Amino acid sequence: MARKFAGSKLVIASHNKGKIVEIRQLLGAYVSDIVSAGDLGLPEPEETGTTFIANAELKARASAIGSGLPALADDSGLAVTALGGDPGIYSARWAGPEKDFDMAMRKIETLLAGKADRSATFVCALSLAWPDGHCETVEGMVAGSLIWPPKGDNGFGYDPMFVTDGMLESFGEMEPEAKHAISHRADAFRKLVAKVFA
Ligand code: IMP
Repeated sequence: MARKFAGSKLVIASHNKGKIVEIRQLLGAYVSDIVSAGDLGLPEPEETGTTFIANAELKARASAIGSGLPALADDSGLAVTALGGDPGIYSARWAGPEKDFDMAMRKIETLLAGKADRSATFVCALSLAWPDGHCETVEGMVAGSLIWPPKGDNGFGYDPMFVTDGMLESFGEMEPEAKHAISHRADAFRKLVAKVFA
């Protein structure tokens, strides 16, 4: 049996303002008071895990223990099949300190040269942790394939290179609402709500 969220206050274990806004919209119906780890002055732990789930759990636990409140963290990225799942948990790091995703996408394309399999999966792990260290964690995903050249200026990160199975437009060309309805993050949030908020 999953532990249910019963309080009214939740910490988002992130310092990313965009993420906080999005999570407020997604969970506003279930939690009245959402604060960020940044607002509480909580430090960001190093992402030392080797899986999306491990990183989401270590971030959520650090904020829950640090604040004494339930805390939610996510960890996401792009796993390319022919590259053994890379960049995976290193998706942000492949773009370097300048967050240069044109460079990161070119790196993927170079590594894919001559390979027939262009399939890839966006993955999002979400973990809700309590101050006693207990975690409830889910993983969402969306399968697709990689195109070259990248297309579209919407979205962020690797969106312009990714086309979901059954679609013609890349995530970078889709309207944000259309992407948010089918994304790995949407899948993970549906699973989290069903598990701990419903
Ligand atoms: P995190 O914020 O540490 O989980 O890093 C996630 C990284 O994965 C981002 O910096 C992007 O590079 C990539 N990523 C995750 N979700 C998406 C998405 O929806 N579109 C494009 N790139 C994504």
